[in-house]
Amino acid sequence: MHDIIRLLPDSVANQIAAGEVVQRPASAVKELLENTIDAGATDIKLIIRESGKLLIQVIDNGCGMSERDARMCFERHATSKIQNAGDLLSIRTLGFRGEALASIASIAQVELKTKRFEDEIGTCLLIEGTEFKEQYPVNCQNGTSVSVKNLFFNVPARRNFLKSNTLELKYIIEEFFRVALVHPDIAFTFYNQEKILFQVGAGNLKLRITNLFGSSYGQRLIPVEQQTALINISGYIGKPEFAKKTRGEQYFFTNGRYMKSAYLHHAVEGAFKELIPDDSVPSYFIYMEVDPQTIDVNIHPTKTEINFQDIKSIYAILHAAVKQSIGKFNLSPSLDFDVEQSMNYTPIPEDQPVKQPTITVNPDYNPFEKRTDPQTRFTFPSKQLPSIQGWQDLYAKPPSQADINPFPEKPGDIAGGAWDRKHEEVQPERKKCFQVRDSFLVTYTQTGVIVIDQQHAHERILYERFLSREPSEPSPGQHQLIPQTISLSPGNAQFFREWQDQFREMGFEIDDFGKDTFVVHAIPMHLENLNIGLFIESLLESLKLPGHEQNISQIQLMAKSMAMKLTIKRGRKLHQEEVNSLVENLFACKVPDVSPDGKPTMVMMSFDELNRKFKI
Ligand code: ADP
Ligand code: MG
Repeated sequence: MHDIIRLLPDSVANQIAAGEVVQRPASAVKELLENTIDAGATDIKLIIRESGKLLIQVIDNGCGMSERDARMCFERHATSKIQNAGDLLSIRTLGFRGEALASIASIAQVELKTKRFEDEIGTCLLIEGTEFKEQYPVNCQNGTSVSVKNLFFNVPARRNFLKSNTLELKYIIEEFFRVALVHPDIAFTFYNQEKILFQVGAGNLKLRITNLFGSSYGQRLIPVEQQTALINISGYIGKPEFAKKTRGEQYFFTNGRYMKSAYLHHAVEGAFKELIPDDSVPSYFIYMEVDPQTIDVNIHPTKTEINFQDIKSIYAILHAAVKQSIGKFNLSPSLDFDVEQSMNYTPIPEDQPVKQPTITVNPDYNPFEKRTDPQTRFTFPSKQLPSIQGWQDLYAKPPSQADINPFPEKPGDIAGGAWDRKHEEVQPERKKCFQVRDSFLVTYTQTGVIVIDQQHAHERILYERFLSREPSEPSPGQHQLIPQTISLSPGNAQFFREWQDQFREMGFEIDDFGKDTFVVHAIPMHLENLNIGLFIESLLESLKLPGHEQNISQIQLMAKSMAMKLTIKRGRKLHQEEVNSLVENLFACKVPDVSPDGKPTMVMMSFDELNRKFKI
């Protein structure tokens, strides 16, 4: 027998590595953005088409590359950032593995244009599935532009594995946030399908957060600041009253790198204990600076996990710092914390052991309790004494409009999506909406006039509502019935059994009595007044229809079919309350502007456009 072990060709090795580094368009976006930061760029453009499946382009004004480096950068383990293992201990750049470009080039068609400041002319290089195509001189700006086209063109399995465009775009936006949040001093423009999705100029961190998440965040944030020999902590936390039921804005950064840490999340969450309801999560944007020697960022190829040498002390310091901020700022909503940022902390000398910071928080403070004599508890000067009205309102709400209106989705319930953040800013005022021709809702925001199609809009709302549940959660609003026996046609009975899990996940509780008979014990909300047997039959019929996109899951398909069946149709007259509720709920959606079927829910004409049309 001859030997059978061989070295893999580069193209294969790179593709395998790409499996780890580039799982989806968002991972390529992350790597390309990080490279621009490492290159010292101050103005960065991200251009996306078809959620990155067709094109991801990143243009920067950073240091650029020489002609030779432009070729070298696609080699595996080619990096300018470290030279030896020792350098691994003091990494300050985001990249260092030298894998990203090699991986990306192995699974896409890549065009690189780059020019250094000192060079007369730039260079353009084309590479496709690791295969070098050509390189020629070009006239181009200082800096680098990398276009990644047809990602996974040669790995169909992976391409098919991608999620819907909406979801992939959401992942990209998330990566964009993670970079943009660390570099408020860098200007970013993010184009999606040739339209600007985000444009943020250089500024301070607070401005960056409000630019990305909506101007209302200006009022929601309180600063956190703590300096110790072990770690410097800075950033913002959301005031307890703005905690949300779904995760969304929880960001940790260590030495300028986004990271995940359930352990440190617990430290922050613990500091909010008893200030927010158990099922809510606080927002935070926390930046930690530590000596690079004390961490290891090398444990995961995508580098979102970081090992700390002294994680326990960091936990304690973080917990205390957050608690201290809550104690200091929480009760004074009117306090402008921009002025307060110069709080004095005495840094601990290097040679002293780290002491846990002391906390000046009133342990008896309970926001749910009516406060009778605030001055005996707090030490704010009287003119700054906060009005805490709103606390009780927030959590002990009497039954209100939301309970009686026919679309009981609460705005903001389905939080956490980037769209909802972006649209928060443009949320129209309630009374400024009206219905026309029993079909369209007209409203306006600060930037323009919006016409909403009620049918598509309600489809979107219901769709997100049906999907908003965590898999482990019991079905909310599940409606108990007197058990009702239904019989399905034999074909549908069999088909129903195939979809039983999805029905259950949607909130149906249906027992199979064999043959064609089923007993319905519970149904999801919104179905209360329907003939449930007929509804299930017609739902099954629509699930059978061919032509459903392959990249949506069965549960999405089910939610979509249900939403399309239950939506308020065009031609139905709505009360003012219903109009308001529909518009509010639409803007609280993660993706308010398209129906689950991919049709627009709204069209907008900006005031600029109107001015132009009227030649003003
Ligand atoms: P790493 O970032 O881990 O070094 P990459 O594959 O991402 O590996 O990049 C390889 C090298 O290419 C980098 O070390 C850097 O020298 C160069 N490079 C990549 N992107 C840029 C850019 N936008 N501007 C300048 N140089 C870049
Ligand atoms: Mg890199």
